[in-house]
Amino acid sequence: MNAIQELLKDNVKLPSPPAIAVRILDAVKKGDSSFGELARIISADPALTAKILKVSNSSFYALSFEVTSIEKALSVLGVEVLKNIALSFVIAKQLRGKGEGGFDFDFFWKRAITAAVAAELVAGLIRRKNDDTFVTGLLQDIGIAVMYFSRPALYLKVLEKKQAGSVATCEVEQGVFGFDHQQLGAELLRAWGLPETIHAPVACHHQCGEVPAALRVQADILLLADKISSVYHGSHSAGKIQQIKALLGDRYKIGGEQIEKLIDSVAEKSVEILSSFEIDPGDMRPFSQILQEANEELGKLNLSYEQLVMEYKQAKEKAERLAQEVMEANEKLREMAFKDGLTGLFNHRYFQELMDKELSRAVRYERPFSLVLFDIDHFKKINDTYGHPRGDIVLKTMGAMIGKFMRTADIAARYGGEEFAVVLPETDIKGARVMAERLRRGIEQNEVLAEGETIRVTVSIGITSFVPGMPIKGKAEMIDAADRALYQSKRQGRNRVSLEELPGAAA
Ligand code: GH3
Ligand code: MG
Ligand code: MG
Repeated sequence: MNAIQELLKDNVKLPSPPAIAVRILDAVKKGDSSFGELARIISADPALTAKILKVSNSSFYALSFEVTSIEKALSVLGVEVLKNIALSFVIAKQLRGKGEGGFDFDFFWKRAITAAVAAELVAGLIRRKNDDTFVTGLLQDIGIAVMYFSRPALYLKVLEKKQAGSVATCEVEQGVFGFDHQQLGAELLRAWGLPETIHAPVACHHQCGEVPAALRVQADILLLADKISSVYHGSHSAGKIQQIKALLGDRYKIGGEQIEKLIDSVAEKSVEILSSFEIDPGDMRPFSQILQEANEELGKLNLSYEQLVMEYKQAKEKAERLAQEVMEANEKLREMAFKDGLTGLFNHRYFQELMDKELSRAVRYERPFSLVLFDIDHFKKINDTYGHPRGDIVLKTMGAMIGKFMRTADIAARYGGEEFAVVLPETDIKGARVMAERLRRGIEQNEVLAEGETIRVTVSIGITSFVPGMPIKGKAEMIDAADRALYQSKRQGRNRVSLEELPGAAA
């Protein structure tokens, strides 16, 4: 007893051949008398009869007339063909539904039936057709079903190992079971009494071992049939088609166009045969059609991809516009928070922050900087004489003209009502005095036109400077000093510039 037989006997629950299959096989073995006996066996099973008549009338056999009885089918298709059709039905019927461990027999038969159809068509194309081709194609992988059915956990291990690496199925099976599904399938079919013409090619259909020369073509047919079935029921269809074209082209000199037609017709014929086996073909359609649909889908996808890019661009532009608007709004808010509404100059709050920054910068880098404070003389009288709105125009005009007397680095602010401040970075008291004098004269000489009135104003100015190295507690010391200087100008008659040194300067 060899290893397979031992394993078959001890570990694998062999499905017994269906009783009707045994009778069909026995009848065929009897030779001459087989015709009538086979017809009787099949006819006793109305469901089987109906299926066989359906297949006989299908485009698969392309008969020019209708076959209405088993006797007629037998005389047209022959005993062997009909025997094989009948066997296919009864065996496929035996193993159905969900097996243990989730084995999907319906999917198994869908693959197997497609392979059987493919085997028949390939054999036709290379002119090596024989009566057993269909059933051999159908049963070539029966070993897998039996392995899975009998030892589901062990076979799952095979599938896991196969998925993990690139090792061939047969090799993994050898490792896990000690034999592969070719050997088991062939042994099973032999035990069921099927002839050598069927089980011998099954034993080498994957061509992983040595293929006897006599079985070469049969093994090729099965290998091709398996790959064609994979085109429809497996993955990497394009790669499979390349392999099919290589084998059929190199060894059998079949052209690419013929091969494509063959692959298409496998789908067309399988749909019909699958329905005879009561297996849902799903959306099985010719590969060229699948390709065309895929291309169309791809076309649609490209279009929507372009649209997507457009939409993305538009969305991006919109987002950028929005960001710009938000930035501008923020800028506005910042301005509003730091700027004076009437004059457009920086406001008191900003002036205070600026003084902090400038002072600490000047202290750290030991640089001079000056502060100019000025106040409009007798502004109350301007308001009283020309009205408050004209007073506003004067203030506004003042804000606009200060710039003319400053350097770009200088910063002007409205300190309060009619009081203004100019911060002069990098400027000592001499520079501040020059600037203040220029400002004073400029304002004095300027005429403000306000609603039909010409208004002239003067300002009193106080200045002070930070001298590097002098001790200073904070900006308030500087502002106070400038303020004192300003009031000195007021006291001394207005429209003038006074300066006051910081308390630390004397020390
Ligand atoms: P002095 O020369 O001593 O500075 O006299 P003055 O009148 O300018 O001084 P005072 O501080 O007495 O008056 C300031 C006036 O400035 C009072 C106030 O009504 C006016 N004023 C303050 N803010 C505004 C403003 O925004 N618009 C107008 N039109 N007037 C203002
Ligand atoms: Mg004033
Ligand atoms: Mg005042």
